[in-house]
Amino acid sequence: MAEAQQIHKPVPRPSPESASFWDGAKEKKLLLPRCENCGRFWFPPSQRCRHCLSADFTWREVSVEGRIYSFVVYHRVYHPGFEADVPYVVAIVELDEGPRLLANIVGSLPGDVRCDARVHVVFEERDGATIPQFALSR
Ligand SMILES: [Zn+2]
Repeated sequence: MAEAQQIHKPVPRPSPESASFWDGAKEKKLLLPRCENCGRFWFPPSQRCRHCLSADFTWREVSVEGRIYSFVVYHRVYHPGFEADVPYVVAIVELDEGPRLLANIVGSLPGDVRCDARVHVVFEERDGATIPQFALSR
């Protein structure tokens, strides 16, 4: 009989465009690109502003709060690394600065999650990576 093998959850593989986002997460900060032309933030990161196509942007730390724009509850195991987590919540979180991120809602029961609920970021350490997740604010 084969030994039980620990199956790990996937970790992000930063691209040149997203490396600053993941480096910020390691320092427990949410960094997003902010356009120097139109002043808006966007996500996911890219080499040009998604609003005005300017290539002039800087990485800025943003608030760690937002609201749940939408969410789903996963009841099926789509990746064996998440088997112990089902049911769990995957949400689109709209930050107060505007951009929307896909993340898990952690620390509460799926039945307590609602659209428009206020959330704040929490950082999950996973196999050497730091992943921004969100928890309900009380
Ligand atoms: Zn812009």
